[in-house]
Amino acid sequence: MTSGTMMSLPLTLDLLIDRAHDRAGDVEVVSRRPDRSVERTTYRNVVTRARALARALVGAGIRPGARVATLMWNHAEHLEAYFGIPLAGAVVHTLNLRLHPDEIAFIADDAKDEVLLVDEVLLPLYEKFAAKVDFAKVIVVGATTTPTDGRIDYRAFVDAADPSTPLPRLAEDDACGCCYTSGTTGRPKGVVYTHRSTMLHSLVTAMPDCFGLSRTDTLLPVVPMFHVNAWGLPYTAAMVGTKLVLPGPYLDAPSLLDLMRDEGVTLAAGVPTIWLSIRDALEAERARWPLKPNVRMIVGGSAAPEQLIRDFDRLGLELIHAWGMTETSPLGLVSRVPPALVDAPEAERLAVRAKQGVPPPLVDVRVRNDAGDVPHDGRTSGEILIRAPWVTARYAGIDVPERWTADGYFRTGDVANIDVHGYVQLTDRTADLIKSGGEWIASAELENALMCHPAIREAAVIGVPHPKWSERPIAVVVFRSGQQATDDELRGFLAAKFPKYWLPDAFVVTDEIPRTSAGKFKKTALREQFKDHRWG
Ligand code: AMP
Repeated sequence: MTSGTMMSLPLTLDLLIDRAHDRAGDVEVVSRRPDRSVERTTYRNVVTRARALARALVGAGIRPGARVATLMWNHAEHLEAYFGIPLAGAVVHTLNLRLHPDEIAFIADDAKDEVLLVDEVLLPLYEKFAAKVDFAKVIVVGATTTPTDGRIDYRAFVDAADPSTPLPRLAEDDACGCCYTSGTTGRPKGVVYTHRSTMLHSLVTAMPDCFGLSRTDTLLPVVPMFHVNAWGLPYTAAMVGTKLVLPGPYLDAPSLLDLMRDEGVTLAAGVPTIWLSIRDALEAERARWPLKPNVRMIVGGSAAPEQLIRDFDRLGLELIHAWGMTETSPLGLVSRVPPALVDAPEAERLAVRAKQGVPPPLVDVRVRNDAGDVPHDGRTSGEILIRAPWVTARYAGIDVPERWTADGYFRTGDVANIDVHGYVQLTDRTADLIKSGGEWIASAELENALMCHPAIREAAVIGVPHPKWSERPIAVVVFRSGQQATDDELRGFLAAKFPKYWLPDAFVVTDEIPRTSAGKFKKTALREQFKDHRWG
């Protein structure tokens, strides 16, 4: 088929899947199982199974556009679902197993999921919401005993596929995936990715100034496949032909480091909490885990503290900071050192690497306030607006027009500035800004600064109602093991960087900061906890 002067080949996932089969057929896909054993397969096998899964789904009456839910950890069968469900013309809807069962039920119902693929080890979770959902089929993955109650064994379901069942012809604007937002503001909302958006996102993600995936890499996505498609990395890896190491249910630092060492991981991806515990483990026992030289680790989902980047530099591992959202597939910004600073002093390079970064090709990011696009002065703040072929144009089944500007940008709700190099630095979420005496205080800026204090492991800053100032900041801090600091020391540390009215009125020491299902600080819970704080 031709359009104009060039072939108009639709950007559909079968291109990427066929290539993984034909060009990277022998490349390994490694899964760690619930019994901690490590199982190896190849892209050729995964794709063969995925095609059979697609035929089995079509044979079972799944029609194009139908939603097929997954409730699974990261492993080879989940990858089969990532490929097989779209090949059936259907939509993979990854359910977040860290949510409350009632919320999972709401999301599955809202998405009208018809089939559920569920790990056997997650059946106890499924039982908690089974009565509230209505799947036509429940297929059990990794079954060690024959499933009961009308449930189907995944292996048998795929094995029974009729090889003559035709698969539908795919169009690039067809839906292929669906994720729900975490719902920190309002109810969770569905975002539907298309074949085209996923293909373009995969291509750009692999570029050298983004995550730089190569077929010589070995990739460990610690980020769950139920969270924004593990940042799209399984698709990117398949497109490139990168060996995949899928960690299954164990995400503690020693078992992740064992995998990194044993499988020769060169690239990993996860949220800051994961890297905090990996840093602590490596600092305690560096010799236990000889790793490949120049391991890169992508960090995103919440801000990577500058101190964490510095600590990993010292340990010989490179953290690459990136920013994105469910609505943006997620890649929106990534922070690699700009050419102008390659030879700059370390402190200057670190400061830039701790920012959220610059948009990759095909992404247009603006930082805008009431006066228009902000100047590139690294100070003036505004909201991050974003436009790209992989940014959602609407939510599924709910109209929220105020999230888009009249000129077609998605309003992220993140507050940021831009520096002379064009690097975006996130200063807060709009909802987390603190209003004190008529002035705004950016909680995330205070947190990032506090996490550079040598005694502090983690810090969350929230606004608490105050009779005189309307709100005042309180910092909730977790000390590094064996470390301590007084309120005055911490206030003095911050005073070097911030105006006096920004300095937290109280420092509350705790063992753990509550987190959301995606590993972000759960500020709603903290605000609730401290809403009746007694001011001295
Ligand atoms: P989610 O859709 O659950 O992935 O959440 C997206 C939100 O996470 C963004 O709007 C940001 O507020 C936050 N976020 C993601 N990446 C970063 C980052 N690198 N630094 C700071 N916040 C981030």
